[in-house]
Amino acid sequence: MKNAQINLPLLVRIKAGALQRLGLYLARSRLTSAALFYSEGLLPSILDAARQSLRDHGVAPALVCEVKEASLEEAVRLRSAVPSSCKALVGLGGGKALDVAKYTASLAELPYFAAPTSLSNDGFCSPQASLTLEGKRQSLPTGPPEAVVVDLTVCQRAPLPLWHSGVGDLCSKFTAVSDWKLAFHRRGDPVNDMAALISDASVFQFMANPVSNEEGIRLLATALMLNGVAMEIAGSSRPSSGSEHLISHALDMTGARPRLHGLQTGTAAYLVSSLQRGNHHEKIGELFARTGFWHSVRKQPFSKEEWRIAVERAPSVKEDFYTILSESDAWPEFARMIALDPALIGCFE
Ligand SMILES: [Zn+2]
Repeated sequence: MKNAQINLPLLVRIKAGALQRLGLYLARSRLTSAALFYSEGLLPSILDAARQSLRDHGVAPALVCEVKEASLEEAVRLRSAVPSSCKALVGLGGGKALDVAKYTASLAELPYFAAPTSLSNDGFCSPQASLTLEGKRQSLPTGPPEAVVVDLTVCQRAPLPLWHSGVGDLCSKFTAVSDWKLAFHRRGDPVNDMAALISDASVFQFMANPVSNEEGIRLLATALMLNGVAMEIAGSSRPSSGSEHLISHALDMTGARPRLHGLQTGTAAYLVSSLQRGNHHEKIGELFARTGFWHSVRKQPFSKEEWRIAVERAPSVKEDFYTILSESDAWPEFARMIALDPALIGCFE
């Protein structure tokens, strides 16, 4: 029943100004030379702050490079550019750079420091990297980061839709855990109760202050990080990813314009939770109303036709992955909600 070994981040700093101390955190761990991978389009002031911090604390920049695409090919290419003197790898920015940095660090067997500059999904602390291989998206095991450094001031300056995306990805934990328990009841799939509990509890924690001020961002960062921990404890993505993620993955594969991951998974969680018939649907609805989640969706409404195709394809996206979508044709109920639910007005076209 027990996992042979669980790896968790040893250093966690979620506070204003944390980025200015990045060099200090590395130096304290005697990591005197580090490679810095950052997102394409990252604000120069953020990159400068990280580099300055490394300089201030005597950490040599072994390699500083912009990550252009979240692919395995890119990670392998960058791995070969990491000099042997390098003692750690830092990922700075959004999802792409962090996924590539995390995977490159695992290839190079170096400690990995995650420094997300926005909180648009739970990937920054997960034990896997989402990368494409020959154009096809895959989740590759990496283990979780050794350190997580979230600068609240930096994250607070990120565009609001990114925060809404993080809120959406967080709410999808409700539906993911329900699907996991359904798979247990229907087929006996093992559920790790502690991982399920952490995942569920992380959403309630955020609900205490679901606003985009410093405190709300701290709660969101902590909650998303705990989801990465839950995945590591479970040894699978089950605590964080269920039928709502299958729909999002199907949209990424078939849609003409994939949107922010958490806007997709959050909207899908809202729909799926209605099928699951528990009390999560109401809770997600309340949270989305309080945070203004739907405003970010309405800025660029989803295509109803693309969702129909994705919902039909979703059950076959992952092999042997039982969810509520395995039981019935979900689209008729979703179509009815899209037509009649006042919350969804303007979210689909
Ligand atoms: Zn997600």
